[in-house]
Amino acid sequence: MTVHRLSPEILSAMEGAVGRNGIAVEPAGMAKYLGDWAGDYQGDALAVLRPGSVAEVQALMRLCNELGLGVVPQGGNTGLVSGAIDSKGGGLVVLSLERLNAIRQIDADNFTLRADAGCVLQTIKDACEARDCLFPLALGAQGSCQIGGNAATNAGGVNVLRYGMARDLILGLEVVLADGELWSGFSGLRKNNSGYDLKQLFIGSEGTLGIITGVEVKLFPKPAKTETAYLGLASFEAAVTLFNRARRDCSDLISAFEIIGAECIELARLVDPTTRAPVPAPVQVLIELSSSAAIDLNGLLAGFLGDAVESGLVTDAVLAASTAQARRFWAIREGLVEGQAKRGYHVRTDLSVKISDIPALIKQARRFVANDHPGWLPLAYGHAGDGNIHFNVLPPAELAGHEARARGAEVVAGLYEIAAGLGGSISAEHGIGRSRRKEFWAGLSPTHRRMVAALKNALDPKGLMNPGCLLPPTETFP
Ligand SMILES: Cc1cc2nc3c(=O)[nH]c(=O)nc-3n(C[C@H](O)[C@H](O)[C@H](O)COP(=O)(O)OP(=O)(O)OC[C@H]3O[C@@H](n4cnc5c(N)ncnc54)[C@H](O)[C@@H]3O)c2cc1C
Repeated sequence: MTVHRLSPEILSAMEGAVGRNGIAVEPAGMAKYLGDWAGDYQGDALAVLRPGSVAEVQALMRLCNELGLGVVPQGGNTGLVSGAIDSKGGGLVVLSLERLNAIRQIDADNFTLRADAGCVLQTIKDACEARDCLFPLALGAQGSCQIGGNAATNAGGVNVLRYGMARDLILGLEVVLADGELWSGFSGLRKNNSGYDLKQLFIGSEGTLGIITGVEVKLFPKPAKTETAYLGLASFEAAVTLFNRARRDCSDLISAFEIIGAECIELARLVDPTTRAPVPAPVQVLIELSSSAAIDLNGLLAGFLGDAVESGLVTDAVLAASTAQARRFWAIREGLVEGQAKRGYHVRTDLSVKISDIPALIKQARRFVANDHPGWLPLAYGHAGDGNIHFNVLPPAELAGHEARARGAEVVAGLYEIAAGLGGSISAEHGIGRSRRKEFWAGLSPTHRRMVAALKNALDPKGLMNPGCLLPPTETFP
């Protein structure tokens, strides 16, 4: 049964668990927790709970478990698939981790760090840098997203091709289960081959199995040198060929390989009108090499690019002459994402295919939009080194919001079909949330669904953890 209001008794029990400052129930106090970064989703909650310690998280979860109250865990609220925001009238509480935000320990000798789940990713990266270490998870939202949210979504970002996704970087988790029990899975060990690796269940579970309260991650030596170049190419095929060559010729020193369709530059200009592509070409690539050793990275990249230009693979190349110039290159990549949010509603995808299938994906998707949705503007960009393309589509400016959303659903369905036809995934790194739940569940085999249902029932038998996100209602399980 959906609860529409919390009784004074329940509110007072919650206040008892978390203190008066740890709970918001008035619309003004809850507003910032109920809308997403892109302005796509506006949700609802009976209350926003803001525990300040792991013990408070446990007390709240015990209470919610007793009351049968569903809980939406929330980190920095930068997820783009409505995982941390319930739909209107759902009768759930939001549990924000923002007050649980301390770095617990940096062990520079063991190259590990432990932090509260609510610690902002940028804070962690800065703290590591101050100790001459690198935490390589890097994404546009790093100033707001939290390490617990990164774990819960198995975040990717621009350095995945070198260091892997959150799943590869996390050594241990601390989790409060649906009934309030605490599981601490910290060990500081890189090798621990004793039985099920339970942390992996919670990584990427999008808040549906428990509340992550602490995260232990691997660190790396801080790069002493980074070289960045912005390149122009004639086609996406050329970009894939270049990536394959770069992997061989630049060894494993590539830390980012981003692809940008020229049409995206206009979007970056919405954020900074002075933005100009360093090279005017239909396909643009941002490549970064980094190393902690004293090797001649500049010479390596310059030599590689010289050959690529000479062979005609690259039409134009600018090697950043300073850190400030490299920052300006990256600002184009970050600005084009922000510019889309500024433009308003648009179709957003996070597709993954084999690297060799990137050109086919973009070609088919562009043809589909041109034929079936003339007037809509396709944008293609992404972490090409991981086969991850954000193929987004902007509606014509004159189309009314509700009509654009209705048509947008058809555009998404068509794009998902194209990705599926290439054996790809509809979620490379953003997760499933509420917005991709139906397509995700429909694509699973009966055996896969049964295993997922068994895990969910075992860890959250009352179905209280983030109902509506990732999975259909537990009553409909096979
Ligand atoms: C500009 C921009 C760029 C981005 N770039 C990338 C990118 O390159 N790669 C990428 O992977 N993502 C990217 N994202 C998406 C997003 O930043 C990531 O998914 C991020 O990991 C979400 O973290 P968060 O703290 O904001 O989580 P939230 O958005 O608050 O939550 C996301 C999900 O995790 C759950 N959750 C959050 N915290 C916890 C917790 N402590 N315990 C249990 N469950 C929890 C929520 O319930 C929800 O289901 C980008 C987003 C923006 C706005």
